[in-house]
Amino acid sequence: MQFSQIDMEMSAVDEKQYPTKHLPEIVLSGRSNVGKSSLINTLLSRKSIARTSSTPGKTQTLNFYNIASKLYFVDVPGYGYAKVSKKQREQFGKIIETYLQTRSEMKGVMLLVDARHTPTEDDFNMYNYLKYYEIDTLVVATKVDKIKRNQRDKQARLIMDKLQLEPEDNLIFFSSETGEGHDDVWQWIQTQSGV
Ligand code: GDP
Repeated sequence: MQFSQIDMEMSAVDEKQYPTKHLPEIVLSGRSNVGKSSLINTLLSRKSIARTSSTPGKTQTLNFYNIASKLYFVDVPGYGYAKVSKKQREQFGKIIETYLQTRSEMKGVMLLVDARHTPTEDDFNMYNYLKYYEIDTLVVATKVDKIKRNQRDKQARLIMDKLQLEPEDNLIFFSSETGEGHDDVWQWIQTQSGV
């Protein structure tokens, strides 16, 4: 899929600031540095639309990217940053929760984890939360170009065990370096959003 027009449309901290266009929305979530901006840029075949995480944890807002007026990617800033105070975390947790629990345009969440590592407690908590609210979730294991082919099964098992993935949840290996997983991720987005 190719989209030519992509805009960072708005940042929102509460419901009044959500877009009003009624386009389907796909959320991207994962700890900082997991490769979220790279994934967005790869999916959109662009060099850098999404900002990279040079100032991690600072802007704790939901960022809506309007993709050719067909759908929004909703970037939920990375969790797991020590710099962010407990209070800030709690506040931002509420922003995410309100969005996930009330937003009818929200069609699914991509949870990004690093293919090289065991998912963190934060990853597990996020996944658990999504399951509890029966939100469709795609787990994307990023930076797969950094692991050897013969380690993939082991890493897949590690990720599935730690997150306690349910059979209906997919795990896709992804690389913004090689483009691996690009088509599968887009297919999931299309299925979820109907675009
Ligand atoms: P974000 O904080 O989640 O948005 O992470 P970024 O997309 O900024 O990526 C963090 C770092 O990981 C950067 O140095 C990227 O170049 C690198 N990176 C991201 N995705 C990949 C990937 O698929 N393969 C490799 N080798 N490096 C990646």
